[in-house]
Amino acid sequence: MPFLEAKYEKAAMLRSSRRPKQLAVINQGSCTGCMVCIDFCPVDCIEVVPGPDLDNPSLHKLVEVDLPRCIGCTLCAKYCPWETIEMLAFEDAYSIAPEWTLRGILEQVWEREPVQTEPEKRSRRRDRATA
Ligand code: SF4
Ligand code: SF4
Repeated sequence: MPFLEAKYEKAAMLRSSRRPKQLAVINQGSCTGCMVCIDFCPVDCIEVVPGPDLDNPSLHKLVEVDLPRCIGCTLCAKYCPWETIEMLAFEDAYSIAPEWTLRGILEQVWEREPVQTEPEKRSRRRDRATA
């Protein structure tokens, strides 16, 4: 199944081998921000999202799963007291996460992932040689 947004395709491609069958996606519309799930995540991939009030971002915080780091262990979904975490098939998770994420900080992180290219390396060597 194709991914809906290009920015998620890149993160998914990085895990083309040994990818988990399912990933955790938080439906933030029902999340209370209790942060119980964070304590259960063995790979520490659930991040706190600042609240919407820029003057007081510590109010009404929610949480968000960093999908590229999730190993699909299901512990967060099992222990969320509000049953607001769904385990979704790998491709579905990347498609649905944007719909369920009201406040996100992780998309920007995925987009910033550095990509090293051969032409850059070559130009650096040339710079040293001509200096
Ligand atoms: S345990 Fe559930 S309700 Fe609590 S912060 Fe995590 S996802 Fe939200
Ligand atoms: S499924 Fe496991 S690894 Fe993924 S967010 Fe939940 S607790 Fe963390």
